[in-house]
Amino acid sequence: MNTYQTKAYAAASAISPLASATIARRDPIERDVQIEILFCGICHSDLHQVRDEWHSVMPTVYPCVAGHEIIGRVTRVGSAVTKYKPGDLAAVGCLVDSDGSCPNCKAGLEQFCPNMTLTYNSPDKYLGAVTYGGYSDSIVVDERFVLRVPSNLSLAGAAPLLCAGITTYSPMRHWGVTKGKKVGVVGLGGLGHMGVKFAHAFGAHVVVFTTSPNKKDDALRLGADEVVVSRNANEMQKHVGSFDFILDAVSAEHDINAYINLLARDGNITLVGAPEKPLGVSAFGLIFGRRSLSGSAIGGIAQTQEMLDFCGTHNITADVEVIPLQKVNEAYERLLKSDVK
Ligand SMILES: [Zn+2]
Ligand SMILES: [Zn+2]
Repeated sequence: MNTYQTKAYAAASAISPLASATIARRDPIERDVQIEILFCGICHSDLHQVRDEWHSVMPTVYPCVAGHEIIGRVTRVGSAVTKYKPGDLAAVGCLVDSDGSCPNCKAGLEQFCPNMTLTYNSPDKYLGAVTYGGYSDSIVVDERFVLRVPSNLSLAGAAPLLCAGITTYSPMRHWGVTKGKKVGVVGLGGLGHMGVKFAHAFGAHVVVFTTSPNKKDDALRLGADEVVVSRNANEMQKHVGSFDFILDAVSAEHDINAYINLLARDGNITLVGAPEKPLGVSAFGLIFGRRSLSGSAIGGIAQTQEMLDFCGTHNITADVEVIPLQKVNEAYERLLKSDVK
């Protein structure tokens, strides 16, 4: 297969900082779209993967080029491509391929396909080795996994929609967050702040739960109707049994039962953060009120496009800080210290 060389920022091992490298990409074949990458979000998963912290589930193959929140411009297309032409804006999220034939793919839920190809650190069926992500000058992706970007959106702010955006949009759609519903968002980081924006845009009454009272102004500015300091038992007590849906975006250890108790009858709490240790769930909290606890992972391609179009209509982007790729190692350290907005 013909390839070309492109520049990237790669980790050579779990303990080495990211450094400039050259990687091979396939030349676009029939259904491929080649994209010049303009912006790529930094997702906490990138950091876990680069440092091989998910070794037991998906060990990292080095060199590792992370990045799955990609926004760019089409530079070349294969002969059978119909949806894109050079010059178009385009985006790529966490997936670049799937088998297209399993029940999940047929349901438009490619994110659950047992044979999906992740954007990075996934077996590359064209070139062998593994796929390389968005910390790079360009990428080549099958057009079925390329997304259209509304032209009114800030391109830098649109990048995180491809992971943080769809991760919060999808469960809210699934659990029927609409006007008149009471929705909680736990945590106000990369995921949580998108959750607040979407819940607000869907017309819900949005309550943000935070451990830090100084995030109150941020939460209100993002669209929250109320802010509850979760350490304050009195404040929590006022909301017992009242939520239709809670999005739990916390990846640190926390008391899930305190939130389950806030759900109304048939209410749902969905986990999108991934704490390292198992959560201690009280069965009684779920039994009384027929409440449910579930998880969710990104979204299918069709829904990701729906989310981007929704963002275009409602002018929603992520709040971002733009840095040159050369500062990615510093950004990782800041991410670990939660020193980012
Ligand atoms: Zn991500
Ligand atoms: Zn499939």
